[in-house]
Amino acid sequence: MGSNLINLSKDLAEKCIECPLCRRECAFLAKYGNPKEIVGRISLQDDATLTLAFECSLCGLCGAVCPVDLAPRDLFLEMRREAVSRGIAPFPEHKMLLDYEKRGISKRYSYYALPENCTAVYFPGCGLPGTRPKRTLQVYNHLRSFLPGLGIVLDCCTKPSHDLGRQDFFLATFGEMKDYLIHNGVRSVLTACPNCYRVFKGFGEDLDVRTVYEVLAEQGPPTTAAPVGKPVVIHDPCAIRCEIPVHDAVRNLAQKQGMAVEEMAHQGVKTLCCGEGGAVALVAPELAGQWGQKRRGEAENREMVTYCVGCSNLLGKLTPTRHLLDLFFEPEATLQGRVKPAGPPWTYWNRIKLKKELKKILPVPVSRERTLDQESANRKGTILRIGLILILIGAVFLIRITGATQYLEQENLRNLIDKVGLWAPAFYILFYLIAPALFLPGLPITLIGGILFGPFWGVVYSIVGATAGACLAFLIA
Ligand code: SF4
Ligand code: SF4
Repeated sequence: MGSNLINLSKDLAEKCIECPLCRRECAFLAKYGNPKEIVGRISLQDDATLTLAFECSLCGLCGAVCPVDLAPRDLFLEMRREAVSRGIAPFPEHKMLLDYEKRGISKRYSYYALPENCTAVYFPGCGLPGTRPKRTLQVYNHLRSFLPGLGIVLDCCTKPSHDLGRQDFFLATFGEMKDYLIHNGVRSVLTACPNCYRVFKGFGEDLDVRTVYEVLAEQGPPTTAAPVGKPVVIHDPCAIRCEIPVHDAVRNLAQKQGMAVEEMAHQGVKTLCCGEGGAVALVAPELAGQWGQKRRGEAENREMVTYCVGCSNLLGKLTPTRHLLDLFFEPEATLQGRVKPAGPPWTYWNRIKLKKELKKILPVPVSRERTLDQESANRKGTILRIGLILILIGAVFLIRITGATQYLEQENLRNLIDKVGLWAPAFYILFYLIAPALFLPGLPITLIGGILFGPFWGVVYSIVGATAGACLAFLIA
């Protein structure tokens, strides 16, 4: 068992007073027992308890209500990491999320644009460019009006891997991004997604991290849209529960847009998960769903405003929920539910389109697309090469042991090719293709081509066969 898990378990077992507070708030703990009881079940031999951790939303509410300042979330995350290190996680149900992440960090979807003297970048995350590409650009343009050297990074922060316990992959992938930014002079990152904020804050080391909401609250919202004067409640995403300045900035911005902000029972530090946290919905939808239902009850039919695309998508299915950034640009239409964010598969198309647009409108001295997936491409290439070599060895072996080499003698070959008529050129080219692997010299085969097909077509077929054979040899090499 990993030393981190041993230490966290020991600490929790010693300090937890088994009060009812966290269990009262959380359906996962209500189902499996308080954190101390769960810790008591972890053992070297038992994998089943470890897998329970994938039903915890990693929302941190238990820590926020704990009277002795424990953080059970850290323990459950460590249990996930232990499960991954034992090879029992992630589960097949997580594949969809990991594929989403994989696309985010791929060459096709990622894009870094760093203008002259760039020391800060806007990091909109994956969700905003996918659901709201136009909004992503509007916010960027507004930020650039007072931060002229601001760059933009379209990439995934790899929080899915972080939350699923794939710590080695997460550290390597996020670390590569962080090192690239620092190496190119970037010192601060402005995030639009609370999950990205949390990742940069926790692992960005020397990078200064702020949300765009704090910057917009200081500098003024992007538009001077007419105030809408409607009462709203704010849903603070659980990823950012401890960041009180961000909660204040968001309320400030909503009020500047003319909204009367009312509070729900759980808000700020004690906010609720929307149900998306920890990818629980993929393995225990009934537990994940309880968060959303609780949130809907607290909203009491009031309009809900949030600043996380995931929360906005999920809660939007249960109760009218708006993204704060939409309210800046189209307040009336947003509150009337007429602004519809894109859903999959259009989200992928939108991300590619946005990247294209940025390349067109933003000439920059430093840019890149991530090529981390090069490693898997190389791995696939190696497997393909080995496969081709094995097929060729098998073919040679088969020809030798079946005595089929007699058909490869020139006279027999000529008779054979004569017999197949119209298919003769195709067979001839195919034979030319595999001849090097059978250690047959090219010259006699070329001569046969000349005799069979005449000087012109003989040369044409020989060139095609020889070129294809060379390409095959190149691929194998
Ligand atoms: S992190 Fe959230 S879901 Fe997990 S145990 Fe704590 S309150 Fe429950
Ligand atoms: S709130 Fe804290 S002390 Fe109470 S059961 Fe939960 S972890 Fe233990």
